[in-house]
Amino acid sequence: MRNRQATQLLFELSRPGLAAVQLPECDVPRRPVDELIPAAAVAAAPPPLPELSEPDVTRHFVNLSTQNMSVDTHFYPLGSCTMKYNPKRNERIASMPGFAGLHPYQPDASVQGMLEVLFLGQQMLAEIAGLPAVSLQPAAGAHGELTALLTAAAYFRDTGQARTTVLLPDQAHGTNPASATVAGFQTSQVKSNAQGLVDLDDLAAKLDDRTAVFMITNPNTLGLFDGQIRRIAELVHDVGGLVYLDGANMNAIMGIARPGDFGADMMHYNPHKTFSGPHGGGGPGAGPIAVIEKLAPYLPSPLVVRDGDGYRLDFDRPKSIGRVRTFFGNTGVLLRMVCYLLTHGGEGLRRVSENAVLNANYLLSRVKHFLPVPHGDRCMHEFVASGSKLKSQRGVATMDVAKRLLDRGFHAPTVYFPLIVPEAMMIEPTETENKATLDAFAEALFRIVEEPDDVLHEAPHTTLVSRPDEVQAARNPILKWTPNS
Ligand SMILES: *Cc1c(COP(=O)(O)O)cnc(C)c1O
Repeated sequence: MRNRQATQLLFELSRPGLAAVQLPECDVPRRPVDELIPAAAVAAAPPPLPELSEPDVTRHFVNLSTQNMSVDTHFYPLGSCTMKYNPKRNERIASMPGFAGLHPYQPDASVQGMLEVLFLGQQMLAEIAGLPAVSLQPAAGAHGELTALLTAAAYFRDTGQARTTVLLPDQAHGTNPASATVAGFQTSQVKSNAQGLVDLDDLAAKLDDRTAVFMITNPNTLGLFDGQIRRIAELVHDVGGLVYLDGANMNAIMGIARPGDFGADMMHYNPHKTFSGPHGGGGPGAGPIAVIEKLAPYLPSPLVVRDGDGYRLDFDRPKSIGRVRTFFGNTGVLLRMVCYLLTHGGEGLRRVSENAVLNANYLLSRVKHFLPVPHGDRCMHEFVASGSKLKSQRGVATMDVAKRLLDRGFHAPTVYFPLIVPEAMMIEPTETENKATLDAFAEALFRIVEEPDDVLHEAPHTTLVSRPDEVQAARNPILKWTPNS
């Protein structure tokens, strides 16, 4: 019976009347499809629709899916920042009907389970941050930055302080200055010193009574923990500014160091990075923020609060900056985050960070012998190697090495970031990889560096499409396929 209803529903949904939604035309240049897809991958004749067997269709799509690298099929040294392993248990829990079937307009009384999950999430994030007040609303890390800066701006306005400038280290992630600008602040860069840490003299020289916020990623984008952080916070607080911690690298310090304890006044988390939310293709994510007590009244509304034996959404927050996201944020991502946190527990989270740091240091100790690592002999959860010698001596670019890794069964690490390292390769193995995998990766990288230049310039050799035109793909994406173009 159920089956018949489902079939009926699918049938209804597939009626032509419903499908005939007109999408707006895309204003992009069209190129014939056979110019874009290699001849070997284009069928000689159209499939004999609709008479195709299910196995044929299944095989077609499964085979297509294996053309991609994924974290389930290959090692991805992109790390927590991009592609940490996503435990399957989170997906099973998130697809349980009691969660997956919820509607955002349901009254609080009928979603007590989900509200409890979110409340628990707020509490656990507060504990890990060492900061008392949490909003789960922002939709991504960058959105968390913006929300926290708007929260800080509301606080400054409310307390009559005219503070206009956000300071950032020169290795900051691009979203930091972008968020500061969108929030209406001016930005100013602080230099890094020779060790790749904040140059304290330069910071001190740039701080004054117009300083609103100093944004810092710690551990930083070079994979180094800035041990001067307490002194940095002191300097910022002395002029009345606030310290913002970009929490994208929390994978290295969970359960070991709390931002609130080392001087941060506000921070964001990236649950889709640190807490293993799946985010292939750029989304969805979440960007919860945690702040000190005096900023709490300005956080977005609503927050989840305990009410007697139950939970409710609290909208009665007169100083709040208001909503920054529809409904309650990306609850599916937040639910997976809570699964991950409960699965590990406090001790487990600490072990995640310890193993992430151990794995990165093991790989660093192998890679540095054939690819220079300019900053430091020890790292946190990631390290940045430089291909600048390969480039200057042989004309081999970091991009060539990255592409050749595909032929050897590895996804490339993050390349050309941070900008302060020439020909950068940012390598982050994460905590879930074993020694054999790390050894195989180090070996592949070593062999690649020894290979003839032309093999590298033309890599990858084993993938269906070799090197797409990335500039064209970013600037002029072809979003729609038209059969006759
Ligand atoms: C990923 C990242 C961000 C932005 O987070 P999103 O969730 O991608 O918006 C900010 N800072 C650093 C250091 C990051 O790695």
